[in-house]
Amino acid sequence: MSQHFLLSPEARTLSLKAIMRMDDAEAFGVFQAIRFADNGGEPFCPRCGAVKVYTLAETPIRWKCSACRRKFSVTSGTLFHSRKLAIREYLATIALFTGGVKGVAALHMARDMNINPKSAFVLLHKLREAMGAVVAAGGELTGTVEIDGMYTRGHYRQPNRKADRVDLRTLPEDRKQVVVVARERGLGRSLTWVVGKESDAVPMIRQAVASGTEIHADESGAWNILHASYPMKRVNHSVEFKSEDGACTNEAESFFSRLRRSEMGIHHRISGRLLEAYARECSWREDNRRVSNGTQWKWITAAALAHPKSERWAGYWHRSAA
Ligand SMILES: [Zn+2]
Repeated sequence: MSQHFLLSPEARTLSLKAIMRMDDAEAFGVFQAIRFADNGGEPFCPRCGAVKVYTLAETPIRWKCSACRRKFSVTSGTLFHSRKLAIREYLATIALFTGGVKGVAALHMARDMNINPKSAFVLLHKLREAMGAVVAAGGELTGTVEIDGMYTRGHYRQPNRKADRVDLRTLPEDRKQVVVVARERGLGRSLTWVVGKESDAVPMIRQAVASGTEIHADESGAWNILHASYPMKRVNHSVEFKSEDGACTNEAESFFSRLRRSEMGIHHRISGRLLEAYARECSWREDNRRVSNGTQWKWITAAALAHPKSERWAGYWHRSAA
């Protein structure tokens, strides 16, 4: 049997020790190289794109655009806009976050980095937002795509007595949510949506999956309508996991497995309004599961530095306290 990827040396190219040994200039250099990678690591104006810029101040370095006169720093207009931590600490946080293959709890990060749990919660959600944007921007899914849905009960607490408990699938519409995934088979990409019922995801699937793509799905009636748009193969899970014609949704199930374990083992309870953020994080992790941790770390950092200031998470606790 081949070795599990995470046990191989190729999976480990990132060193938290090396990050923590970086001085301020080295950490700054990493951010600068990643943020301005399109210009060989040399700063350019984030507003107008001009490459002629003046250095205004050295510590911390700030620049001024020669064309539009905008002043900017290495984090201006990114997820790290008006940052509170040293760059080295962000790099270390992202390294720890990268290493948790099912995610990392905010409280865990708060302890490891000795930062306020609220700050850790917001910072990790900002990273999830950037990862989700990368997942969503990847273009149409092609090849063979598996689709499936996983119902979640959200905050529903079952009554004490077994006789009083309900089948979660029969909960009122506003109580339940379903995570739907469309996943390219093999080392492909996946996209997820959180909706009230599986059939609500059909328009998104139509938009996300290229025409002509073979779609595999289970027996759920929600997917019948897709036969009009795609070549389909169906598997009846009450009978078998793989049908005689090769229909199978095991890779979609692998995604749900990661999401379920992430909720049960790491976060313990995921609020319904945040479910999509965690689903997209798991989607990113699933898609990049064979990529070395050093590359993952760089990609997450790049996603955050390419992502605009977060509308949802900037000032989150200030707003929620108001
Ligand atoms: Zn400019």
